[in-house]
Parts: sequence; structure tokens; C-alpha cells
Amino acid sequence: MADESTTNCCCEAVAENDDNSVCCGDYEVTEDSKVENPTNSKKEIDSETFKRIKDMAKSLDIEIIGFGKIPKEQMEENERLQYSNAIVFTMKIGDEIINEPPSEFAQNLNNLLYDKFGKATYIISDYLRQNGFATQVAHPHQNLLDLPKLAETAGMGVVGRSHLLITPDLGPCEKIGAILTPIENLSFSKENTHKWINDYCKRCGKCIKVCPEDVLQKEYMDDNKAEFIESRCIGCNQGCTYCIEGCPFYKDGYDYVKEKHDKLEAKLKEKGKL
Ligand code: SF4
Ligand code: SF4
Repeated sequence: MADESTTNCCCEAVAENDDNSVCCGDYEVTEDSKVENPTNSKKEIDSETFKRIKDMAKSLDIEIIGFGKIPKEQMEENERLQYSNAIVFTMKIGDEIINEPPSEFAQNLNNLLYDKFGKATYIISDYLRQNGFATQVAHPHQNLLDLPKLAETAGMGVVGRSHLLITPDLGPCEKIGAILTPIENLSFSKENTHKWINDYCKRCGKCIKVCPEDVLQKEYMDDNKAEFIESRCIGCNQGCTYCIEGCPFYKDGYDYVKEKHDKLEAKLKEKGKL
């Protein structure tokens, strides 16, 4: 089944004149839908169907589900986006991948995870289509839209300085996928309780130091994120995960980091430095 959003590479741009440029290798994203989109999609999902979606996701090793609305401006800018409501999923990147140094083997492990996650997303999408809901799959390895940002919009976590999503349950260790749909009665997030991570990142910067390819540029910070030179990143063609390994949210966990952050902020306030 053809899908215009299908692409072989998740890189948005591989710099033509940069000798350090790399691309995401030969990973091929396959459009895996078995069910056609309904012509007239339903807009309201009932609680029973919704519960089945959640159970299905859990059985497919999907760890967190969130719901986000894609901003109007983004919909207008990106013609490939068919629907503005999103069901966002994450799947854990296990230690067997994180502990593996960059190599072809690490890359293969990563690709297997992308395969598993992509297939799981299509299974859920097909189920929705069977039940009368239109869908568009945002495969975890595609560049259909900025998935970490979407997950942040859905209140699931915050995009750290490393450009990785950081969540309470998985820290920076997750891949993100989504299903875009016209379903209107999803529990869209109204707030994001993880915004404090931005302040923590401002003082940390470990991901910048551990990156072997100078992908993250400290001097070009925007909105607390280091500029990310995607064309240099060997995460998607050698399975590099050093920025995950180096992140305190991976080593110490969300709750510990939050406690440390709160204590420091309290001290700074006491001294009138905040
Ligand atoms: S995956 Fe590796 S190369 Fe890419 S930003 Fe992280 S540490 Fe740097
Ligand atoms: S390593 Fe530090 S700066 Fe980078 S994402 Fe993790 S907490 Fe933020």
C-alpha cells in the first residue's frame, strides 16, 4: 500500500559540503498497512475500543502512550501531515543496545528495534482502521515530523539538550512513534509537568561532552537545546548511544535527578541566586 511519507532515511538533510556527513545507512522503512483507510472516518472513539488499543500496545511492548495536537502552523507548513491529532507511543531502548559501542552490530540491534516498533505501530493503526478510524503512521525511523517534540506536546516528557525525549519512566532511553488520526476525543495533554528538565539541562551539558562527533554545539543554544548537526550523528548508522549513556537520567533515573534538582534550586533560592 503506497504511502507518500515513506522514506529510506530519517536524516532531514545530509550536508553536501561536510566531510563528516553521514546518512542513516540502508535502513528501509516499509509501509506495512494491511487495511485501507476508511473513506469516512469516525471522530469519536468509545472507551471499550480505546481500552483494547491500550492493551494491544502493552502486549506489543509499547511502554508509554500520550496524546498530542499538532499545532496549526506545523500542519500548514508540512503538507505530508494528514491529521492533526496524534497518539504517541514509546518503546524502550534496552541496555543490550545502549551498552554496545558504535558498530555494525549495534546498528543491527537498533534496526531490529525500529522494525519491531514500526510493525507494532502498523498493527495498532490497522486495528483502528478496521474499527472505522482513519490513520497515518509516523514510523519511528521516519522524518514525517519531529517526534520528540510531538511527545513533549503530549506531555510525556521534555526534549533534553541532547534532542532526546526524557520521560519519567524511561529517561532518554526510548524510540518514539505515532499514529495521526482525526479522532477528537482523546485525552490530550493540557500541561507538561516535566518542564523543569530544561533548567536541569542548562547546568548539565554532559551529552555535549560525551558526543564523539561534535554533533551537539554548545555555543549555538536555542531554547535550551544545543544545535544538533544531524548529518554528523552516527546514532542511526552505527547505533551510537553515547549521549544516552552519558545522561544522568539514564544513570540515576528521573526521580533521583528531580530530587537533586529540587534541592539545588531550594539552596539557590535561599541564597537569593534564583
Ligand atoms: S548518537 Fe552519538 S553521535 Fe549522535 S549525538 Fe548522540 S553521542 Fe553524538
Ligand atoms: S546529558 Fe544533561 S544536558 Fe544532556 S540531555 Fe541529559 S540532562 Fe540534559
